[in-house]
Amino acid sequence: MSKKNYITTPIYYVNDVPHIGNAYTTIIADCFSRYNKLMGVPSFFLTGTDEHATKVAAAAHSKGLDPKDFVDSLSASFRKVWQDLDIEYDDFIRTTEPRHKDVVQAIFKQLLDQGDIYKGTYKGWYCSPCETFFLESELVDGCCPNPECRRPVQLVEEENYYFRLSAYGDRLLAYIREHPDFLMPESRKNEVVGFIKQGLKDVSITRRNTGWGIPVPGDEGMVIYVWFDALINYISAAGYLSDADRFTSLWPADLQLMGKDIFVRFHSTFWPAMLMALNLELPKHLIGHGFWTIDGEKISKSKGNAVSPAQMAQELSEKSGASPEVSRDVVRYYLARETTFGVDGDFSFDTFYGRYNSDLANDLGNLLNRTLGMLSSYNDGKLPAPCQGELRKEICDAQTAYVRGMEAFAPNQALDAVWTMINAGNKFIQDKAPWQLKKEGRKEELGSVMFSALETIRAAAIMISPFMPNTSKEILKQLGLSGRPLLWDDIICSDPFENAGEVKAQPIFPRIGGKGQAKETKPEKQAPAAEEKKEEYISIEDFAKLDLRVGKILSAERIEGADKLYKLTVDLGSETRTICAGMAPFYEADYMVGKSIVVIANLQPRKIRGVVSHGMMLAGEDENGVKFLSPEAELAPGSKIR
Ligand SMILES: [Zn+2]
Repeated sequence: MSKKNYITTPIYYVNDVPHIGNAYTTIIADCFSRYNKLMGVPSFFLTGTDEHATKVAAAAHSKGLDPKDFVDSLSASFRKVWQDLDIEYDDFIRTTEPRHKDVVQAIFKQLLDQGDIYKGTYKGWYCSPCETFFLESELVDGCCPNPECRRPVQLVEEENYYFRLSAYGDRLLAYIREHPDFLMPESRKNEVVGFIKQGLKDVSITRRNTGWGIPVPGDEGMVIYVWFDALINYISAAGYLSDADRFTSLWPADLQLMGKDIFVRFHSTFWPAMLMALNLELPKHLIGHGFWTIDGEKISKSKGNAVSPAQMAQELSEKSGASPEVSRDVVRYYLARETTFGVDGDFSFDTFYGRYNSDLANDLGNLLNRTLGMLSSYNDGKLPAPCQGELRKEICDAQTAYVRGMEAFAPNQALDAVWTMINAGNKFIQDKAPWQLKKEGRKEELGSVMFSALETIRAAAIMISPFMPNTSKEILKQLGLSGRPLLWDDIICSDPFENAGEVKAQPIFPRIGGKGQAKETKPEKQAPAAEEKKEEYISIEDFAKLDLRVGKILSAERIEGADKLYKLTVDLGSETRTICAGMAPFYEADYMVGKSIVVIANLQPRKIRGVVSHGMMLAGEDENGVKFLSPEAELAPGSKIR
């Protein structure tokens, strides 16, 4: 059986529905899995639920429920969340399933027999919410050192079974050294190396049996520690000790993803040591990604600020009028594009809507709508004959950069490459002015321009499919290419629209704050004809040199070290700009967000306090202070002022 590309997420505690922080891992894992499928690589994607935590049992008892019934319902609601986010997993493991429990017990027994597990007395500081023992030296102000927890710990002395982790420190360090991309990102790898170099202590891997958990084989008064139990899911689900063919086709895992909180101690130390003890290969890559904050604050239940992806999608759908399917895709897109995978990210509805308007309504939506609009006006909606597309270099460049990004586990770089291509497509249409070609009856050139634009849209639809599966399908449908699963190798082909059905244009990303739906942008008027020059005045051509545009402020933030300056993110219709403006003494940042302003768009960019300001906003001043200029009634961002 050939080896599949095997991707895992951690299995989740079933105590709560996922917010964007923990849904992030699963969404990104799904993007990688779909990327494999797009490339024609057999892929296997595992997720699941971790159900043996003592706090799960406690929560069940407090609700008067049987723990098993309780976890059954919670696990089902987890599956529903993933289904609602279009997560296409291949297997979902629950640690309460026999296929898992049997393997955990067999492994325990084997390691006990071979001496990697032994029985001893342990005295240590125990944090019961974290279910972890700590050394006295690890405590922070006498409390749990986990920064997410910091609760009081108890001194506990008990007889337990131990995993001989201390025996694996040198082997782990040697393995990490010899496999430079085993642990990523680099900064977290260094944390792991530091942790191991401090010296590893044996880990207590049993607890008193209170009726919940996997019993220790032959010593039923104890259950197996939840982390020892949980980590084994990655191999029990893969058929270890139960299905040799399945196991050969999956193990070692190619990519194991998790948040940074469970990276160092559990996944990069304990887990590989367990695998070494079992004489199994280690996973190819373990990546500990960063955390999301919301409006700069930690996501926490007590703050009540946790946003779920479903909620983000629903709010976007209500605000913009985009379909629920597309809105869900936008959440996936945002999470993948907004931050570099690995580092922390900050979510705000402002940046979420900002990206929607700029990247999707403007860039991608505009390319699609204007092209299909022109196809209908200039070619009766018929697809042009195939030719040598004029944007093939841009498409190939995007393909190369996209693959480079995905192979480096940097999905945002892959998406950057797609958007570079999309923007090249928009610029191409602007430069080629098909409306002019139509007017002058230059049919062949017009056909080539239309074909090239359509080929670029089709390429974009295929490339975004791992991130935005519903949107990809919708775009292909509008191009008359429904029902054909398209692979990476189909992106450039001799006749991409062979046997295509009817083309149907329907805006996918209605602009937020625009008048209903996104529209085809009208061709720009040419610079006015020269007029007579009068010496004491500037000529109309001089005025025409100023590219004055309506912009909409998407966000405003202070620039460190500058009292007066705001760094504005401004929607200019076809693009989003960063503009520095000395408005801080006169306006609150919140007041400015959402306001329409007047921007000199073609002012030479300059660097102010380390920020490149690309344009200038106009304002006037009298004795009452400074007021910025704003159109009298709403004008779409990007509207030209003349
Ligand atoms: Zn704790």
